[in-house]
Amino acid sequence: MRDLATLPKAHLHLHFTGSMRPDTLRDLATQYGVRLPHALVDGDPLRLPPTERGWFRFQRLYDAARACVRSEADMRRIVLEAAQDDAAEGSGRLEIQVDPTSYAPFVGGITPAVEIVLDAARSASAATGTEVAVVVAASRTRHPLDARTLARLAAQYAGEGAGEVVGFGLSNDERRGDTAEFARAFAIARRAGLASVPHGGELLGPGHVHEVVRELVPDRLGHGVRSAEDRRVLDDVVDRGIALEVCPASNVSLGVYEEAGQVPLGALVDAGAQVALGADDPLLFGSRLVGQYETARREHGFSDTELADLARSSIRASRASSGTKRRLLAGVDDWLAAG
Ligand SMILES: [Zn+2]
Repeated sequence: MRDLATLPKAHLHLHFTGSMRPDTLRDLATQYGVRLPHALVDGDPLRLPPTERGWFRFQRLYDAARACVRSEADMRRIVLEAAQDDAAEGSGRLEIQVDPTSYAPFVGGITPAVEIVLDAARSASAATGTEVAVVVAASRTRHPLDARTLARLAAQYAGEGAGEVVGFGLSNDERRGDTAEFARAFAIARRAGLASVPHGGELLGPGHVHEVVRELVPDRLGHGVRSAEDRRVLDDVVDRGIALEVCPASNVSLGVYEEAGQVPLGALVDAGAQVALGADDPLLFGSRLVGQYETARREHGFSDTELADLARSSIRASRASSGTKRRLLAGVDDWLAAG
């Protein structure tokens, strides 16, 4: 069995706050005199039922972590450490997702908040060798006009390389907001050349996937795993070439599936879906990127050849330049050949 940490891959679903190392969160909490909820410091992955109450508890913990990020230095530290941890796990390309609204009050507005993350991403790329690009994400819990403001801001930094904005997302509780009302924001982002990468089809089923596909025209779907419950929806996702950012630890932590073995990873791949494994929020879900590939190996019986295909899929679904993709794909071939 080959070492999964040396398999070159791209990491396309990782949230800024959720990427934080537990030790870093403890440091910041001490620095600011914040008392953290036990669940954030006990080292156990979160386990919640997929109900409204389960989500609120997740959101409360997430907010508690976010409340410890209060300065430019904190923001830079989080980006650098995410890049270091990704580099240690064979990720040659990280597309980290951030909603700058939460940090704006501490750094003088959403524009500086975005610029700090982009500059930190550039420095982290140079320091670690992992190319860090950024997805700017709006929240379903805020007004769709806020999403348009964020899309216009994201558009100004559009690109494909380190320290550039590559995509526009929509996060938070899938059950909140009216998907169609965010279509205008996504149209603004698309015109600027940004990838459309909204969340969908994790807490809600194939009907939600269908709605997100129709309204937001995604290039990639955050999760989308529940498209496996309706063959027509899944075939449509496959036909449109929409990649799925599958995060098994998240699905199990949020109770969407009881066990990792129930995540329909094999069914999605067999149907021809392009799958990119992601860690989502390692701070809360207790495992990082390699952990998701280990799950594919252990729980789903993926061979090294199939794991290499998953890695290739993640690289192809990224917004990296063709040069970066070629380099990483060649690394996957080497990984397989060396076994
Ligand atoms: Zn997510």
